Amino acid sequence: MITEYKNEPFTNFGLPANKAAMKKALAAVQLEKAAHYPLIIGGKAIDTEARITSINPSQTSDIVGTVARANIDLAEKAVQAANKAFSSWQYVDAAERSLYLFKASAILRRRKFEFSAWLVEEAGKTWAEADADTAEAIDFMEYYARQMDKYAKGMEVTPYSGEQNECAYIPLGVGVVIPPWNFPLAILAGMTAAAIVAGNTVIMKPASSTPIIAAKFMQLWEEVSLPAGVVNYLPGSGGTIGDYLVSHAQVRFINFTGSKEVGLRINKLAADLSPGQKWIKRVVAEMGGKDSIIVDSEADLDEAAAGIVASAFGFQGQKCSACSRAIIIKDVYDAVLAKIVEKTKALKIGAASSPESNIGPVIDENSYKKILSYIEIGKTEGKLECGGSTAGEQGYFIEPTVFSGISPEARISQEEIFGPVLAIIPADDFDHALAIANGTEYGLTGAVYSKNRVKLEKARREFHVGNLYFNRKCTGALVGVHPFGGFNLSGTDSKAGGADYLLLFLQAKSICEKL
Ligand code: GLU
Repeated sequence: MITEYKNEPFTNFGLPANKAAMKKALAAVQLEKAAHYPLIIGGKAIDTEARITSINPSQTSDIVGTVARANIDLAEKAVQAANKAFSSWQYVDAAERSLYLFKASAILRRRKFEFSAWLVEEAGKTWAEADADTAEAIDFMEYYARQMDKYAKGMEVTPYSGEQNECAYIPLGVGVVIPPWNFPLAILAGMTAAAIVAGNTVIMKPASSTPIIAAKFMQLWEEVSLPAGVVNYLPGSGGTIGDYLVSHAQVRFINFTGSKEVGLRINKLAADLSPGQKWIKRVVAEMGGKDSIIVDSEADLDEAAAGIVASAFGFQGQKCSACSRAIIIKDVYDAVLAKIVEKTKALKIGAASSPESNIGPVIDENSYKKILSYIEIGKTEGKLECGGSTAGEQGYFIEPTVFSGISPEARISQEEIFGPVLAIIPADDFDHALAIANGTEYGLTGAVYSKNRVKLEKARREFHVGNLYFNRKCTGALVGVHPFGGFNLSGTDSKAGGADYLLLFLQAKSICEKL
């Protein structure tokens, strides 16, 4: 019997047993560090001389592991393996396909601390952030496995006399899954599970900063004996194998989450017809955000400041949902700013493996340099209230940074930084705040803190974001509860963790039989 879907609870690390379990998992990960992981193509492990080295961003001398690096020949092999697997997987009963997801999520639940420990070490997630990532991965698999049941029944059609009609949902074919490094387990799991439960086969090309957690995820599929080639594990460079896969004539869809630049490039490449290609490729792209929290004059100012700090600095601001702009009505501007600065200064920076850390490192050297260059830009665009420097020598640590008095048109108001940098923007009144909030090329998340019903209703209509929150933070969407995805240049308006997400990986076939 399949039980009702429920979100996986977060772990309370205040409980000694949970704290001990996490410490044990982190110690176990130490013993497995620096291991090497091959590609998995068509169920076979294939190694390469070229390797990708994954390092711990909290301690850059610490190697988390290495993985094989695929070249174009191996990418071609992966497409062929996925194609071969598709010929039978597409006809496997939907309930049986769902069962693989249930089995994999059950293992993940049993090994939750271990997976979270890998996220701490490879992605630099604090304990709580790592635990949320693992819980969300479980949620995606549990949720999509159940959603498939609905689509297996087909589309409702109107009865017509003298005919027997149906409209069945069938899969698309071979897909490429290109996940981000910031939710290297949850988003990878969601993007992959949705595609395969719908009957497609995929090539997972993990982000090069987080290939180990993806290798661990691949092992789950092997453990549940998912048929060979349904999921293929293919780390490699985006510029070579990424482009090759996206342009491949036999690839039917691309499921991408990452930056706007890469998403737009994929969309463009996928639009060109390759020789022998028989379809218009489907591109599902989740891209960036420049997300705002509005604080109205009639709001609980403490809650607003707490929500802003949590949304701006959770996982070091490296979420496309992160609040990078706090838009504050002038009557309460000074009071809210003071509270934000106070709460930000109280955050503890340190290695992600320490349970005391609130702020871990940023992901890699490129991000580190990019964020620091935006901090320099910020210094010319407003007043540095706190942070603004690197912290510690051993990892990519940057202080949570707040700039005040920022104009809505400033670069740090408009460009996605993807790091712990918050721009505080003053607004004359609520309408002005809404106009500022809508004044970016993105439209992913947003929040409003207000006790005024009329203003909330106005925001409900006019704040143009895919995920709008009232009187709470703008990060932490829950699978099934807050379907997640944005408007404008934030992506293709798709909703991960939503009840219609699987449709993106299906096509409908009308069948009529004359009686
Ligand atoms: N779904 C996540 C949230 O609501 C963000 C995902 C992302 O950053 O890509 O915070």
